[in-house]
Parts: sequence; structure tokens; C-alpha cells
Amino acid sequence: MIFQLDESLVRFARAGKGNVEVLISVLELLAMAVREGNHLVFAEMKLASEILLIVGRNSGSASSLLLRLINQYPKVAGLAYGIKLRVLVGDFDKAATKTVEGVRVIEYPLGLVNSGLLQKSLVLVENLTDADFYKWVANVVLMETEFRGVSLALEGYPGGGNTTAEAYDNLKENTSRLCLCIVDSDIRAPLLGPGDTAKKVLKSDRDRPVVRAGSHVIGACSIENLIPFFFFEEAWRYDPNYSSKLSLYKVHYREGHWKYLQLKKNISCFELRGASAFSVYWAGALVSVDVGCLLDAPSCEQKAACKEYKLPLLSGSPLGATLPLIKAQSLQSQVLLPDIRLAWENIAEELLGWCCATTSHTAGI
Ligand SMILES: [Zn+2]
Repeated sequence: MIFQLDESLVRFARAGKGNVEVLISVLELLAMAVREGNHLVFAEMKLASEILLIVGRNSGSASSLLLRLINQYPKVAGLAYGIKLRVLVGDFDKAATKTVEGVRVIEYPLGLVNSGLLQKSLVLVENLTDADFYKWVANVVLMETEFRGVSLALEGYPGGGNTTAEAYDNLKENTSRLCLCIVDSDIRAPLLGPGDTAKKVLKSDRDRPVVRAGSHVIGACSIENLIPFFFFEEAWRYDPNYSSKLSLYKVHYREGHWKYLQLKKNISCFELRGASAFSVYWAGALVSVDVGCLLDAPSCEQKAACKEYKLPLLSGSPLGATLPLIKAQSLQSQVLLPDIRLAWENIAEELLGWCCATTSHTAGI
């Protein structure tokens, strides 16, 4: 996250005895966050100079931080103004979020800044390995933008699937951490709305908003839909069972369609009988599949009894099968469907906002 110093800090420091010490202690916390590689701190050069005059050049890590902000200004300003999210630390009455020219600015009172807030941002996901995948996605996207060289610092936090919304509420209420929650949409056909997990997370932000937390519903049914097809082919190259399954799935690998496909669940013939949006859509998409129970047969009267799969699941853990390969590959651009690419770019923008830490320009200086 970018923590920007607000000009109200000058007025605050001059307003009362003891205020300079308060300001110095906040600057020390920010300096520590930079040293640990958790976040970036930024200030307009004139403001950093003014604050430096107030706190004095010999105020330890506070003045070192300010000097660094001045020296690195040309390198960090482009980044700070290019990112769509930042925390503005200032003399505010209460924490609030404002959108200024498309940038989400979190106004944070300096009295509320503590070491918890300045730890690495939490990325709350359904399963812990999801966070590794999302970080890789973001790094691949950022590699081809002006933000290449920016490192992302985050701590994955497992929400446990359908309990993710409860975990989100808990982190919002009982910690002072920055938190980005990323969940599957579970949208399994056009015209359907998000699944329960995504709905609960969105409702949490509607009913109990907290400025230092935000959520993102991915632009696909689930995280597995975001995996480039190449990695499935690689993972199961020598496994004949999977090779034949992949050929069933390859048929569905197209824009506006693949993102709805649930890779971890069978689609039985039972599920395609009916008038729901899911049944209608997938009955059409799988119309040429010559598998199914006889109509009105007892074996197809309920979902559990129907064992005829129009499309068998790809794998119980497509991400588990591919993540080692993904991690082993050096960072390079990926061939993606256009709508999946958009989903990637949205994830990258969120992670860049919440988790940008050091840049190759600022590291080690
Ligand atoms: Zn059936």
C-alpha cells in the first residue's frame, strides 16, 4: 500500500505541545514498515521538507524517512500517482474513504496508525494456495506495465471456502490489519448471480464497511478458470486419463464460455433437465454429448441417483496439480482468453493497490 503524508500534519504538529512527538512516533512506525518491505511511503517534496524542519534533522528514523522521501521523490511519485488506491495519513477526525479522480483515497487519522496497520496487507482467500496463484497472476500482468519492478508484499490468510465471509468480518472487526478479500464468483452460467460466498462478502462490505478492508469477486466462476490451459496440458502430459478429459474440456475453452465452467464438479444429465439458467445454458453447450439416463428413468429422478455425467469433473484439485509448474516457470507473459485476461488485470490492479511494497528503484536505498 502507498501511505501518503497529508499536509494537515504540518498544522497538527504546530498546534500543540506534544504533537511533534506524536508525529515523530507515527513517522517512526512508517519508517519501520518501509524497512521491513511492507509498504511504500510517499509525500510531496515540499511537504516532506516542511515536516523535516518541524521534526528536525536529527530525529532518528523519522528524519531519515523524510530525507529518503525527498531524495526518492522522482522515482516514487509516478508510482504513487499511477496506483488507484492509497492511504492518506493526516489529522482527520475519523477514518473515511473518498474517491478522487478515480483513485480510492483512504483518509486515516494519524492517531489510529499502529504497528498492526503497517504489517503486510492480508490477502484473504478461500484456500491459502490461492494467494500464491493471485500473486503470480499480478506479477505476470505487472511485468508488462509501467509497474514492473514493483514488488508485492502480502500475507495470505485462508478463509476456508464458504466460511470466508465470516473470516472477513472477523479480520475487519478484531484486527487493525489492511485486508483484501478475493473470492470466486461461482457464476456457473450467464444470467446467474454470484454464489453464496461472494454474496456474503459483498454484503459484509455493504452492511459493515471498514476503510482498511476491501473485497474483489473474480471475473470467473472460480480460481481454476484463471489457470492458462497450457498448464493443464503440461501437468497431465503423460497421463492418458487426463489427456482424454482435457480434450473434452478444450472444446469449451473459448471467450464468454470457459469462465462459467466448473472444473471441480461433474455435470450430470439430471442437472440439465429443467428450466434453470444453469440447466438451459449447459444443456445447450453439451447437446452433442451422447451420455445420459433414459428420460423418466428412476436413476435420473434425483441428482444423487444420476451417475451419468455429461461432463466429468476435470480434477478434484486443478490448482494443486498446476501450481508447482506455475511456480517453477520463470515469469513470462501467458496466452489467455480475452475475458480471462481482463479478470487477471482486475486482480493485478487490486493487489498492486493493497500490496505494493518496494520498487526496484527504492529497494536497498
Ligand atoms: Zn441422469
